[in-house]
Amino acid sequence: MTKNKIRVRFAPSPTGPLHMGGVRTALYNYLFAKKHNGDFILRIEDTDQNRFVPGAEEYIMESLRWCGILWNEGVGKEGPHAPYRQSERKHLYKKYAEKLIEEGHAYYAFDTSEELEAMRKQIEAEKGLAQYDARTRMEMNNSLTFTTEETRQYLESGHPYVVRFKMPGNEEVVLQDIVRGTVKVHSSQLDDKVLFKSDGMPTYHLANVVDDHLMEISHVIRGEEWLPSLPLHVLLYRKLGWENTMPEFAHLPLLLKPEGSGKLSKRDGDRLGFPVFPLLWNDPKTGEVASGYRESGYFADAFVNMLAFLGWNPGTDQEIFSMEELAEAFSLEKVGKSGSKFDPAKARWYNHQYLMRKSSKEIAELFDVLLREKGVHLSGEKTEKVVSLVKDRVNFVHEIWEQADFFFQAPQSYDEKTVKKKWKADTPEILQKVITVLENLDDFSVEPIDKALHDFMEKEEVGAGKLMIALRLSLVGAGKGPDLKEIMEFLGKEEVVARIEKAIETLKD
Ligand code: GLU
Repeated sequence: MTKNKIRVRFAPSPTGPLHMGGVRTALYNYLFAKKHNGDFILRIEDTDQNRFVPGAEEYIMESLRWCGILWNEGVGKEGPHAPYRQSERKHLYKKYAEKLIEEGHAYYAFDTSEELEAMRKQIEAEKGLAQYDARTRMEMNNSLTFTTEETRQYLESGHPYVVRFKMPGNEEVVLQDIVRGTVKVHSSQLDDKVLFKSDGMPTYHLANVVDDHLMEISHVIRGEEWLPSLPLHVLLYRKLGWENTMPEFAHLPLLLKPEGSGKLSKRDGDRLGFPVFPLLWNDPKTGEVASGYRESGYFADAFVNMLAFLGWNPGTDQEIFSMEELAEAFSLEKVGKSGSKFDPAKARWYNHQYLMRKSSKEIAELFDVLLREKGVHLSGEKTEKVVSLVKDRVNFVHEIWEQADFFFQAPQSYDEKTVKKKWKADTPEILQKVITVLENLDDFSVEPIDKALHDFMEKEEVGAGKLMIALRLSLVGAGKGPDLKEIMEFLGKEEVVARIEKAIETLKD
């Protein structure tokens, strides 16, 4: 049933850093909510105490904030359905487990891990599907095989138990997934999943369904890895009497490795040299450090734009979208069914596009931090000038230094190939004459420099190829780079002359 208000949630478990696939899930939820003036909720699913990783929750929130994927309800924000951390909602779930038991849709199971293991071995020996289900449950220790009195005694004795869903033997589950289309599963293929444990904690399945119901979620948008759980979730809605207000579902395709197939994993990033996490992550247990997009120099808006296109496209040629434009254009119907191959080169391309679109002033402020680390102190205007001259050659702010170091220091060496090809016997003599011409300039800025060099070439009958490359070698140390007159103006007469003299001296033999 369609709900009046669009309400979606991102529901990560704080078991480690948020994978970029998780960020994309959050992004699609956010865009969908924004497009429909709905609510976007952040819920932390921390019922599995064994998998809890300190710092992961903060990491998730910081990542979302960095990306501008802001929730209007949820952990850290509060709202009408607080608390939003499942461990703090513990008291809520038990009654639903009990209701299912009372109505015959769930039962207590007391099997020890040894007994479960023995069952698994036996069934595997018979080449059957080793699971707790309609076929095996009547041979195990549970409230279906025990008398009421026995069950009561077990419970009172404090014997560990779990509550299992009593998967119906013969029920067809047919559902519509917005991305996948019709999904049909027969209940006989499914097992009796654990819903609740004697430590008082629900499992993911129960907590997820109960919370989506209580929080009035209209659409569940999540990764494809949860599709196999969907039939159980639908049956839970059905048995809890909530089927007519059940959310709609959209399961997003996987992010795939750049080459071959298979899910993009943390190891692919390390192997191929790109981050798979939004922010740098220091693993508190192993001490391992995993790189992040932020620390690698990506702009948040470029990262978000790139991510949006991994699984969705607007159906036009436009590739650059602000968050507002993404929200405007986004629709779940345009999310593809098949996995999206992650392309690290495209990620860098996006960063370049954003770098080019940002003002030189903004980039200069970022670059200035790096300059200061290197002990270079320039006026804002000069830094901006350098940035404007080299920004089309870089993908990241930190690459500007490599492209622009000659603005701040004389070349330490001269590109050998260019020297061999272009530094001729008469080059020093020509350059010596140019020095005189340059020294005579009162106004050492682009236009007068340009004019003086042209007049010189005409008068001395020297080709531009010869003179300009020799000059470039002297000033930059290489045969390529931004506009030479701009470089000369930036360096100033004295420095230009000093560098030419140094080149003549160094390259004389
Ligand atoms: N806690 C689950 C996760 O970690 C949430 C899945 C869902 O959105 O239902 O991804």
